[in-house]
Amino acid sequence: MKLYYDFHIHTGFSPCGSEDMSPNNIVNMSIIKGLDAIAITDHNGIGNVRVTVEVGEKLGLIVIPGMEIQTVEDVHMVVLFRDIIALENFYQGIKDKRLMIKNKPERFGEQVIFNDQDEIVGYEDNYLITPYSLTINEIIKTVQSLDGVVFPAHINRNSFSIIKSLGFIDKDMAIENIEWYGKRPDDAEDIEKRMFRKYRELINSDAHDLISISERENYLEVEEKSIQGIFKVLTQSV
Ligand SMILES: [Zn+2]
Ligand SMILES: [Zn+2]
Repeated sequence: MKLYYDFHIHTGFSPCGSEDMSPNNIVNMSIIKGLDAIAITDHNGIGNVRVTVEVGEKLGLIVIPGMEIQTVEDVHMVVLFRDIIALENFYQGIKDKRLMIKNKPERFGEQVIFNDQDEIVGYEDNYLITPYSLTINEIIKTVQSLDGVVFPAHINRNSFSIIKSLGFIDKDMAIENIEWYGKRPDDAEDIEKRMFRKYRELINSDAHDLISISERENYLEVEEKSIQGIFKVLTQSV
């Protein structure tokens, strides 16, 4: 069966994320758009993930716990886990490996923490758009040791994409998926020449506001509409 997804969505926890990107707003908008599953992937932190997973459970939407991590190579990678505990364990293990500077909200934007009623209950003080001192391969290894999935983000973008930063995707990299931002680009074939092998091509919105969340357009063929069903597909070789 077809499962319509958007596996790259930011909340107001990301400094560049709209403050409208609260747990209930995101889940309700995703349901209105006809999606079956989303992932919450804020920059380098997980402040609103647990609460959005809980809201998803209440309202009947699959919410995959995730994060968009900036590697030491300045590449953005999306990491997804089967449950919130795995994501929190992952984060505990790496959180001290990121460059810490104080956020300047007037310059970069607020980093908002919500409760399950979409009320603001706090702010993250450390600016989230700084890299970890971890390589792409170190992150892949750590994610896979926790049964997660990791893929290079928005490879058709000009900043923080693996193609832009490294120039190619190493064929020995232990990943099965790549992400196009927005839609499959017209020059996809040119980019694919720098991949050297096949990957499953995911199309995600990288939404920072409600309108940008994907429509009911991109799907996976799954055996069952569940996180297990999704991970069964994402962990298979293409
Ligand atoms: Zn990114
Ligand atoms: Zn993003």
